[in-house]
Amino acid sequence: MPSKPRNRIGEIYGSLTVVRLSNRRTTSGNAFWWCRCICGNEREVPSDSLSNKIRKKKNITECKQCAKELAIEGVCKKNDLQEELRRKEAVKTRLALTGKVPEDWLKLPMTDAHARELGEKHFFRGIQCLNGHLSPYRINGGCLACAKSNNQNLKH
Ligand SMILES: [Zn+2]
Ligand SMILES: [Zn+2]
Repeated sequence: MPSKPRNRIGEIYGSLTVVRLSNRRTTSGNAFWWCRCICGNEREVPSDSLSNKIRKKKNITECKQCAKELAIEGVCKKNDLQEELRRKEAVKTRLALTGKVPEDWLKLPMTDAHARELGEKHFFRGIQCLNGHLSPYRINGGCLACAKSNNQNLKH
């Protein structure tokens, strides 16, 4: 017989409030608890995932639906932030290159994602490629100067 679990009803873990004990037990004999999320969904959670302490093992703090939405939001925020930094960097780098590169390049979108947004094929971040070219890039394709010299090599 598994020992009677500590009563957790009414305890709050993140967005979850423990509402009742489940009949399910984990393989190690821990209780599962039914918890209600702030969105109204219920989720069955094993007691060892219910904690308000920060620890290595992942705590469960919302229903599956909310957890999924939070994960997607987190990824988007991170990507947005990185993209924002890339564009800021490109603005600075390009400003420093004014007069040193063809003016047309400075009118190109700033990053791959920026070019996609505008429906353009080329962008210019003002950075050198691995071969040391300072050149616009093609979305999905890399440095235009490299592409050009590759073509010339093929012809020779
Ligand atoms: Zn929820
Ligand atoms: Zn190149």
